[in-house]
Amino acid sequence: MIDQYGRKIDYMRISVTDRCNLRCRYCMPEDMAPAKQQEILEYEELLRVCAAAVELGICKFKITGGEPLVRKGCGAFICRLKELPGVEQVTLTTNGLLLEENLDLICRAGLDGVNVSLDSLDEALFRALSGGRGSAAAVLSAVRHSAERGLKTKINTVLLEENRDQVESLAALAAELPVDVRFIELMPIGFGRAMRRVGPEEVLEKLRGRWPDLEPTEEKRGNGPAHYYKSAGLQGRIGLIDAVSHKFCASCNRIRLTGTGQLKPCLCYDTAADLRTLLREGGSDEELKKAIACCVAAKPRAHSFDSPRDITEKKAMSQIGG
Ligand code: SAM
Ligand code: SF4
Repeated sequence: MIDQYGRKIDYMRISVTDRCNLRCRYCMPEDMAPAKQQEILEYEELLRVCAAAVELGICKFKITGGEPLVRKGCGAFICRLKELPGVEQVTLTTNGLLLEENLDLICRAGLDGVNVSLDSLDEALFRALSGGRGSAAAVLSAVRHSAERGLKTKINTVLLEENRDQVESLAALAAELPVDVRFIELMPIGFGRAMRRVGPEEVLEKLRGRWPDLEPTEEKRGNGPAHYYKSAGLQGRIGLIDAVSHKFCASCNRIRLTGTGQLKPCLCYDTAADLRTLLREGGSDEELKKAIACCVAAKPRAHSFDSPRDITEKKAMSQIGG
């Protein structure tokens, strides 16, 4: 589908749950009540949405959450999505804690890649950022196993004041392993609004101290807006995702389905198509397609992260899927 600004929309992020086994400070607070189970779309409903989306030219899907792997049956869902005619790519974003035990299943399903979020290799800081849950060692072990299995693996780190000192050690994982390490600018969504942003220029400066030959590369490494850097000393690439300081809305290719079945044209605004009601009130496949097409048609030209009062989205990132 081509939207009103000439952008090709072929990618959908699907949140399968708003629950999570971590409480990353910028994403999900301790006391957030999850949606009721009946409010979350069933896998069958998700597959119906995906089938309709495929017919409209959306052929790439990212499974997200909350933490997608805390939802029972997520691996089997990935299998079924991969088998849906017209689906070209299915990838997963996860905090990695349940990845190792799911690796067999998702590799067999033919998952096309996994993004593992990891904000610190220092255990004390990891726990300070994750609400005292999980461990960096467990995530790292999953990353190693995933890369060993030949699964395309990327590490995503949100840049915060607290983890500034972790940048070099996290980037060094791209030297040790064939993984890309991406640094993401904090977005003013949900709890990210109250936290201070660290600019990506700082990352480059630091990393050039260690890998002086770091240089931009035009290689296409995924579906997203990251720009990548390479060095002879690195197996993987370093990616920067600077959604706020360098708006990349002109090349936006995506829509987002929340766990509760709201289809969002843009992360920044609270507008959404209520696919759950449509699905549960007997909407036909044609009506579903029409609702998806309307959502694409409603994609705004750009976000307004630089103008806080124009950000109308009030949900936490864990309720949207990132
Ligand atoms: N639980 C999974 C994970 O952590 O990868 C999937 C869901 S999580 C919401 C998806 C991504 O959004 C993670 O990489 C997370 O770091 C990122 N994220 C959450 N809140 C953010 C914010 N305010 N700004 C930038 N990225 C954010
Ligand atoms: Fe959970 Fe992912 Fe949000 Fe962290 S970023 S709280 S792991 S959903």
